[in-house]
Amino acid sequence: MFQKILIANRGEIALRVLRAAKELGIATVAVHSTADAEAMHVRLADESVCIGPPPSRQSYLNIPDILAACEITGADAVHPGYGFLSENAKFAEILEAHKITFIGPTAEHIRVMGDKIEAKVTARRLGIPCVPGSDGAISDEHEAKRIAADIGYPVIIKAAAGGGGRGMKVARSEADLTEAFLTAKSESGAAFGDDSVYIEKYLEKPRHIEVQVLGDGEGRAIHLGERDCSLQRRHQKVWEEANSPALNADEREKIGAIVAKAMQGLAYRGAGTIEFLYENGEFYFIEMNTRLQVEHPVTEAITGIDLVNEQIRIASGAGLSVKQEDVTFYGHAIECRINAENPRTFVPSPGTITHFHTPGGLGVRVDSGAFSGYRIPPYYDSLIGKLIVHGRNRVECLMRLRRALDEFVVDGIQTTLPLFRELVKEPDIANGAYDIHWLEKHLAAKA
Ligand code: ADP
Repeated sequence: MFQKILIANRGEIALRVLRAAKELGIATVAVHSTADAEAMHVRLADESVCIGPPPSRQSYLNIPDILAACEITGADAVHPGYGFLSENAKFAEILEAHKITFIGPTAEHIRVMGDKIEAKVTARRLGIPCVPGSDGAISDEHEAKRIAADIGYPVIIKAAAGGGGRGMKVARSEADLTEAFLTAKSESGAAFGDDSVYIEKYLEKPRHIEVQVLGDGEGRAIHLGERDCSLQRRHQKVWEEANSPALNADEREKIGAIVAKAMQGLAYRGAGTIEFLYENGEFYFIEMNTRLQVEHPVTEAITGIDLVNEQIRIASGAGLSVKQEDVTFYGHAIECRINAENPRTFVPSPGTITHFHTPGGLGVRVDSGAFSGYRIPPYYDSLIGKLIVHGRNRVECLMRLRRALDEFVVDGIQTTLPLFRELVKEPDIANGAYDIHWLEKHLAAKA
């Protein structure tokens, strides 16, 4: 097992990793920018190293300084959390070259899955169902038109290097296609430095359903069921739940088995998520995330499995702590992402939290680095905490969520808490009857 883990991240996820390491008796090193000197992850770590000024590029993305922090402190492993360097294949390679373990998959798997075209080709080869579309990058609008005519409109043009929902354009008919193609291409060139795009059938009313996997890197891999992340705004997840209200146990077993088998074929190492769009009973692969996800706690709630503990075990060579037949799903869990944002306009609202009181009680978990008096720096994303609620079934979970949201107090800044208090009263939410467009439509109707 490792002696000391350096956590190359900040905020709630740095704390999350720190907790798992502490439970395993492993010493922790926090790294931080000058803006985060007072942050909770810094206060709770055994050691901390300041790695640079506030901008991420000079601190949390600064590989030489993070490497130096490992050497100064003698850390033998690095957990990257999510975002920042978590899907940076070069970072994983550099660490390995310095005999420091990257707690995550191989650099090769990060690279393959980071390129959405290669990821799709790989997924198809491994038997994962994909959205109909081009087999690779499309070179010009004529090719786009040929493929679109074949798969039928509407279609979506997507950036191979895409992420965070950027570089995507929908074309409803051939008349829109040239513009969609050219805009997606130039946007993705500007945003990602790579203008390769591909084309897919655009699904009108899908749900976003993703399957959590764990692999030991030696051909053993299991699935931990799915999460439904259909409630999104601008392709960003807002609310996630497990299980999906749309799936029954047979469908869960079927897609889980397909994904687990694929990950066995890949000899995937660590935690990963296979994301699908789900429509009319069919699953369509969209991408794989080769890291821990923000919404992982809902899976932890219904399986009782600590995903970060598993990541650390796997990286140390100890393998998975559970077999597929030991994994059981109990009850229902929902996560709300609490952002420091105006709940209507979603404009970030950094500043000082004057009063912070979190809900508690049975089935309530809050993952957050915030506290009364905490000053939210303006440099990073606006997630300040996650409320995760578990109940024996979805009805109980929603009742508990309503109660927990009422107890939650964050003063001094604006947060998305009022949005969730509103959502839990919506009949469609209570019925689980929503697709990936529901939230945007709801927000537009309220505006
Ligand atoms: P990113 O890596 O930018 O998050 P994804 O491929 O995961 O991109 O897609 C993000 C979101 O975009 C999906 O959750 C869905 O809302 C929408 N989307 C992507 N592909 C399609 C498609 N073929 N049809 C309909 N919506 C899509």
